[in-house]
This record gives sequence, structure tokens and C-alpha cells, in this order.
Amino acid sequence: MDKKGILVVVSGFSGAGKGTIMKQLLEEYPDRYALSISATTRKPRPGENHGREYFFVSKAEFEEMIVREALIEYAQYVGNYYGTPREYVCQQLEKGKDVILEIEIQGALKVKEKYPDTLLLFISPPGAGELKNRLVNRGTESKAVIESRLNRAWQEAQGVENYDYFVINDDLEECVQEVHSIIQNEHARVARNHAVIENIRAELKDFAKGD
Ligand code: 5GP
Repeated sequence: MDKKGILVVVSGFSGAGKGTIMKQLLEEYPDRYALSISATTRKPRPGENHGREYFFVSKAEFEEMIVREALIEYAQYVGNYYGTPREYVCQQLEKGKDVILEIEIQGALKVKEKYPDTLLLFISPPGAGELKNRLVNRGTESKAVIESRLNRAWQEAQGVENYDYFVINDDLEECVQEVHSIIQNEHARVARNHAVIENIRAELKDFAKGD
């Protein structure tokens, strides 16, 4: 098996429940996965903590991270900046953990361009009505922001074909297991196992010579 972890991007419409799914995945398999914590200029929602859900920073701090090239990617979403700090992601991949970036589509495509072997997953609720209900029931955003997020969801739906897998979040536990299987199966791809394959070939060559 390949020792280095896989970079996994998980996107999905705002309110698709991907945060809950990722939290559960990490709880069930803490040794396999690492979740990247993004920086954002959005204000924390009630219950969100600096360094847990996000690193909440000012616009000036965020722009300074861009200049320092401390971010793998960044994008604007409904009036705020969001970006992925580079250092943690690289460290965890080296340790062999599969690193999950829960980011929107523009960022996902930038990551894929820089790191073509990134696995892209898209998570969706079963239908659009469900999406609206989840956003409204969350009760943390104004009507205008909910409308902007639904509008953005419509735009993002046009880009789903860029992703490798489309997973429907109907039942939380089933969805967690499906995401886990997809990522773990990815480790078995021939293209991700060149080093092991070359090793076995070299050994076989020696055996064939009678060594
Ligand atoms: P929210 O404000 O609901 O937490 O996130 C809004 C959107 O920004 C979500 O689609 C989320 O996946 C995305 N997002 C979170 N962090 C990042 C990031 O580091 N980079 C990018 N490009 N998008 C992000």
C-alpha cells in the first residue's frame, strides 16, 4: 500500500450536512483521517470556536496569508474569504493520513489543478427542497444570506461533473460508511501503488534469475 495519504476534497451545497458527516467520519476513524481547518473572514456562528471549526481572521490577516503563500488555495464565498492553510495538510499527508478539505467548488478545482491525484467528492441532500429546509432550520443566517447561499448552490450544481464521486446524504451513518469506502478503495488504485509494484517487479526479476 502507498504510505502517503490521499488528499480528499469534499464539497457540497451549503446545508448539505457535509460538516456533520466529516465530524462523524473523524470520530469513527481518528487514525486514518485528518481534517484541515480553514481560515475565513466570516464571523463565527453561535457555538463555533476559533481553531476548531475555522481560524477566524480579519481581512488584513487573510490577505497577509495570501501574500506569504501560506494557503494551498482560497476563494470568495457569499462575501467572505475562505482558504486552506498549507502546512498542516502537507504534514498530515506525509504522516500517511488521508487529509480532508471541506471546501467549495472554486477551491476544489484549484486544488485538483495543483495536485491532480486529489480525490473529489460531492455530497448532496436527496433533493433541493431538503436543502432549503436545512438552511432555514439551522436558523443562523438571515433571509438574504440564505437566498445568496441557495443561489450559490444553483451555480455549484453546474460544476458537479468535475467531481469523481457524487454521494447522497440521506442517512448519516450510511453516508459516512460510503465516504469511508470510497476513500479507502482509492488506496488500491494501480496509479497510487507504483513504488510497491516496482519493488515486487525487482524482486521477481531476481527470483527469475535464480537468486
Ligand atoms: P460556511 O460559511 O457555511 O462554513 O462555508 C461556506 C462554504 O465555504 C462551504 O461550501 C465550505 O465548504 C467552503 N469552505 C470552507 N473552507 C474553505 C476553504 O478553505 N476554501 C474554500 N475554497 N472553501 C471553503
